[in-house]
Amino acid sequence: MTTTAAVDLDSHPLTHWDGPSGLPDFTRLSDADFGPVFDAALAAHRAEIDAIADDPNDPTIENTFVAMELSGDALDRVSAIFWCKAGANTNDQIKVMEREVAPKMSRHYSAISMNEKLFARIDDLHRRRHTLDLDPATLRLVEKSWKGFVKSGARLDADGKARLAAINEELSSLGTTFSQNVLADESEWVMFLEEGDLAGLPGFLKDAMASAAAERGHEGGYAVTLSRSIYEPFAAYSERRDLREKAFRAFAGRGETGGATDNGAVVARILALRAEKANLLGYDSYAALKLDDTMAKTPKAVFDLLEPVWEKARRKATADEADLQRLAAAAGSNDKLAAWDWRFYQERLRAEKYAFDEAELKPYLQLDRIIEACFDVATRLFGVSFAEKQGVPAWHPDVRAFEVRNADGSQRGLFLADYFARPSKRSGAWMSSLQSGYRLGYGSAPIIYNIMNFAKPSAGEPALLSLDEARTLFHEFGHALHGLLTEAYWPSQSGTSVSRDFVELPSQLYEHWLTVPSVLETFARHYKTGEAMPKALLDKMLAAATFDAGFRTVEFTSSALVDMAYHAEKDAPADPAKFEADTLARIGMPDAIVMRHRTPHFGHVFSGDGYSAGYYSYMWSEVLDADAFSAFEETGNPFDPDLAARLKKNIYSPGGSAEPEELYTAFRGKMPSPDAMMAKRGLA
Ligand SMILES: [Zn+2]
Repeated sequence: MTTTAAVDLDSHPLTHWDGPSGLPDFTRLSDADFGPVFDAALAAHRAEIDAIADDPNDPTIENTFVAMELSGDALDRVSAIFWCKAGANTNDQIKVMEREVAPKMSRHYSAISMNEKLFARIDDLHRRRHTLDLDPATLRLVEKSWKGFVKSGARLDADGKARLAAINEELSSLGTTFSQNVLADESEWVMFLEEGDLAGLPGFLKDAMASAAAERGHEGGYAVTLSRSIYEPFAAYSERRDLREKAFRAFAGRGETGGATDNGAVVARILALRAEKANLLGYDSYAALKLDDTMAKTPKAVFDLLEPVWEKARRKATADEADLQRLAAAAGSNDKLAAWDWRFYQERLRAEKYAFDEAELKPYLQLDRIIEACFDVATRLFGVSFAEKQGVPAWHPDVRAFEVRNADGSQRGLFLADYFARPSKRSGAWMSSLQSGYRLGYGSAPIIYNIMNFAKPSAGEPALLSLDEARTLFHEFGHALHGLLTEAYWPSQSGTSVSRDFVELPSQLYEHWLTVPSVLETFARHYKTGEAMPKALLDKMLAAATFDAGFRTVEFTSSALVDMAYHAEKDAPADPAKFEADTLARIGMPDAIVMRHRTPHFGHVFSGDGYSAGYYSYMWSEVLDADAFSAFEETGNPFDPDLAARLKKNIYSPGGSAEPEELYTAFRGKMPSPDAMMAKRGLA
């Protein structure tokens, strides 16, 4: 029995956190409480917002912005725990709840952004902002939230508001349809093989294919599926050209099967609604609307980044293609190199040129030592230290807790890490927070977490990582530092609350320190002998890392260019399939390479709104991180103290309190050119 009316948010363990180190007391939490606590917390937040909107006093920063920034505390707390568990330790009850909570939250926040009395106060303060003697962060808060309200339709008339709400609702259900169609195509397609069909396949792939077959009731057989972790190695190793072609056509054709799961009409409708929305809100195009609050700002700036990269990558890929064609001829094939041949001959070229086996690295990359390396780099760069705290219960017994201290010994925050894969955790790696750090009011110390999916070793064995996994650990820890080192005053400017083409800078930049020689010498030691990783092994690995740059960059950049082309026009294309083909023809896409994400399954762009007109962001951040690390290389010291202090002050600590260009320029003295990124990718 649940007693909704009886929820006391001031004492309930989901909203009143009284566990160790400022955490909730996880031993007292019950999943059955989420429903009633969410309802009570939503109602409490609504009441707070109404009180701000109905305040009879003239609007001030204090009675409007401070009040808004401090409102919704109970809702933030229950949400933080819920979404943490939904990702990292879910169950059937939570999965059912997720389908209820997501639309409830979206209705709640749109009601706030369409609240006319609330917007009237914000609009009034915004109009008077230059007479209020505001510090830069507060001025930015006023401008950003005003713009956020306007972009959510606050200034539209009643008809416009109703139309915008209808567009948003239809877009959100189209996004769900799009994902479900792709998922259906991915899970339905399978190619069962026999022992005799496996020529060329490595052991780890045969194992994965055997368990995929067993999962589908074909015990003793082998299954090729469309999951990237099976499809890509199959395409790279299978000596059977006919099977490679079959798998390729299924993989590249996801969402384009012509049947009930075909996404053609879904994409056309999404693009039409997005164009209408941009128009309704007074923007030239949907890209202009989406880019308005990013670093890039305009579609032109994005094209200016992508087009020169595209030309270099295309030239490199064309040169590689000739190499691969020769290799195919030598292997006795007279056919023109096709898209299902590229990965296969590229893998042969790699083996021939670099004679490098990734498995040789693993014994040197112990999880515990790489965690120490992450912490040590942070101490050397930023002066913060990490000490593990035992016996802190969290959402799963595998979670480890670390107290974070400043150089003077004072408390900074808490870092939680959950490293191993398990069935209750979704795949991938990410950073999030249970509590963000800010200075407003009584202040709040950050509680940040990292989730990984490393294979759990059997008892008594050390966990060993691949180089990619070690890189992922550094990447997510870079995001964690962005959250932990925050000095933001306003909660909404804390840590990673920055524009989406800036947010990957602290994470991608941190990856560079993994392969700094002094870091590897100290921490990459053989788990049995304790010997340091041989330099020759490291060099071989780094040399092999960029040899497929042409292919990888063409795959990525073509997708980014098509995404931007779709959204940069005033009117949406009526036939997306034709538009994709025409765009690729116009930019000179090589025949034997396919986009990394073709339109009918481009989830970044069509499953939701997150990366629409935004796939370029990864490369935008890469321009920044490559240039930022070259600043350290120029000094000859990867831990140069002056530069590290500037990095902390301008990149890792300010959160969203200033314009990203301003922050980057304060660190580096100038904005970057793409040269360092091109060099990093092997395209210089
Ligand atoms: Zn990231």
